[in-house]
Amino acid sequence: MAVHDNFLINLSVLYRNTQKYFDRVLAKYDIGSGQLLFLLLIYENDGITMQEITRRSEVDKGTTTKSISRLIEQGYVEARVDEKDRRVRHLHTAGPASRIMADIYDYRARCRGILGDGCDFAAFEAMLAQVTDNSRKGLSERSPLEEVRIGAFTKLTMRDVPGKTACRIDLAGCCFRCPWCNKKDLVFLPEKKEYISPETVMEFLKKRMGILDAVVVSGGEPLVQDGLLPLLEMIKEMGYPVYLETCGYEPQRLKEAIDRGLVDHVAMDVKNSRELYARTVGVNESSLDHARIEEAVNILRDGDVPYEFRTTLIHEFHDEDSLMALAQSLHGAKKWVLRNYMETDGVIQPGFTPFETDEAENLCRKLQKTVPNCILQKE
Ligand code: SF4
Repeated sequence: MAVHDNFLINLSVLYRNTQKYFDRVLAKYDIGSGQLLFLLLIYENDGITMQEITRRSEVDKGTTTKSISRLIEQGYVEARVDEKDRRVRHLHTAGPASRIMADIYDYRARCRGILGDGCDFAAFEAMLAQVTDNSRKGLSERSPLEEVRIGAFTKLTMRDVPGKTACRIDLAGCCFRCPWCNKKDLVFLPEKKEYISPETVMEFLKKRMGILDAVVVSGGEPLVQDGLLPLLEMIKEMGYPVYLETCGYEPQRLKEAIDRGLVDHVAMDVKNSRELYARTVGVNESSLDHARIEEAVNILRDGDVPYEFRTTLIHEFHDEDSLMALAQSLHGAKKWVLRNYMETDGVIQPGFTPFETDEAENLCRKLQKTVPNCILQKE
């Protein structure tokens, strides 16, 4: 007999009895109730990826992987490697599954019938959906994605990725305080700053699938945010190539993003020679860990993901000696882009000066002796 004043008991009994029912009726197929949800998701979404299943089922990654691996071993599911990106696997139901799916739907319908005996089951389902939503909002811990601070969002840019239409997500906050930085409000976050919710950005991206070519993720410094990787995961699931811009001060997170196939191109700012780095990024020498920057340089230089290093030329910070020293540290780089400084309204400290064009071109030619693929970007 159900108790009316203890929903935890009712919830637990309902859950366990439903599990027991499916364990029993599916035993002849050697499928457990825990695998049922995944089998249905794959059957109804042919070619779905593992990441998408984890997101939709709201089951943790380890459990999802284990259940699906078992379905693959049993021959109910097969995984096919994506032709364009070999890191992605698409899941399809295989022969034996099609023979049992009608039975599974039948058992599910019977389950609903039994549970709905004597009550308005449609109304119960609507309320259950509402209660489940409430639990997501109120009971779950805030997901890292919810913690993402998006400081600016540009719906269309033709400048950031040559030859492609892209949108640009600027994450707020930075580990450096480069005095010449043109994004003051993404570095010193004003008290009344309004952030853009990740959901709004995701909604926009969903609508632009097939229209926009790429998504640029920049900052501030995007890699300092815990929610960055879940954010990239969602963008990649929509099929967008991700162009990450970073200062490289979080090498481990950069590596994880690359290893998990979450970025398609990385542009890393390399600010200056080791001697002048701290001054150029506006921090004390004692608080700057050069090893982290070197590690990020090595990750890109030794890895497979397309990348470029970038340096903004500013008279007050750079001269031939400092740039030659920086070139030595980038020896072997596939691409190094020099950009002449241009001050805008959002600058932290106004008054810095760019190089003359011919001066910058001469420097670039000298630097090419150490990094042959050093180029001066024309504005
Ligand atoms: S230039 Fe880049 S690294 Fe420097 S403060 Fe601005 S956002 Fe941060």
